[in-house]
Amino acid sequence: MSAVELSLIIPVKDEEAAIGPCLDRLIPVLQGLADPASKSFEILFVDDGSEDRTLEIIRKANAVDPRIRAISLSRNFGKEAALSAGLEVARGLAVVPLDVDLQDPPEALPKMLDQWRSGFDVVYGVRDNRETDSLPKRLTADLYYRAHNWLSDDKIPEHAGDFRLLDRKVVEVIRQMPERNRFMKGLFAWAGFRQAAVLYHREERKVGKTKFNYWKLWTLAIDGITSASTLPLRVWSYLGALVALGALAYAVYIIIVTLTSGIDVPGYASLMVAVLFLGGLQLLSLGVLGEYVGRILTEAKGRPLYVIRETIGGD
Ligand code: UDP
Ligand code: MG
Repeated sequence: MSAVELSLIIPVKDEEAAIGPCLDRLIPVLQGLADPASKSFEILFVDDGSEDRTLEIIRKANAVDPRIRAISLSRNFGKEAALSAGLEVARGLAVVPLDVDLQDPPEALPKMLDQWRSGFDVVYGVRDNRETDSLPKRLTADLYYRAHNWLSDDKIPEHAGDFRLLDRKVVEVIRQMPERNRFMKGLFAWAGFRQAAVLYHREERKVGKTKFNYWKLWTLAIDGITSASTLPLRVWSYLGALVALGALAYAVYIIIVTLTSGIDVPGYASLMVAVLFLGGLQLLSLGVLGEYVGRILTEAKGRPLYVIRETIGGD
């Protein structure tokens, strides 16, 4: 296996229209990188179960330029799994995951490589704008980052996506992580190392449309939090203790009132509220427990994260 300096990992799912423009813009940037040594690069597509002509187009590109390689997964495993597959197969001393829709501009790569050469192990892109996202998406993203960083010790940088340069050392650490639940940003944050940020301007998606709807993002958010923190599990014991103490105090109050004034406390409304509130709380805590138990099951099954059906190019 010949090592290359820079690997770009591009996960693709039904992106037949986006691959051409992506390569047209990417290759000149890669070829123009100042250091002649950096001319050894590879572009590794991870076909995440595409059902259109994506794979065919990549195959043609590989025939023309062997620096373009691909692995094709046996079905759609999702972007996080596709990235894991890419990290496994990439050979570069530095590895950069990139979206095919050119929302992560290749023009930021030279800056990232500069930082890397000056000794940083992770150079993450931070977007200087979020206008390309709708207001609800921006708000929910903001809320998510806050919740995540409040709950977890491994802080993820805000406004940073998967677009980042990873040194081989970091890639090896991530490859060794056994978990099935791959929330990439969380894994990157956990790994640590010397990190630097590079600002970039995120553009509108040029062709095709986004593969992420709110439900998928919500699932991703839950994955992120449950894999980064156990606080949601522990909070119930404290909440339970608090409610029990409150109930005790209330009981004492009722006894005193009954003894001193001798009248019954009218109770229907407060009873209903207490019962429903506690019932809701119990279901909620059970649900949270379920999230974690479900994840233990996935880990316990120990299935592979993805299945590679075919490899195009490479040795
Ligand atoms: N993608 C993938 N598998 C999926 C969904 C998306 O490999 O199940 C790829 C997609 O082809 C693209 C990248 O992940 O290269 C980012 O997807 P998208 O642009 O739809 O996400 P957004 O930019 O809206 O977050
Ligand atoms: Mg996109």
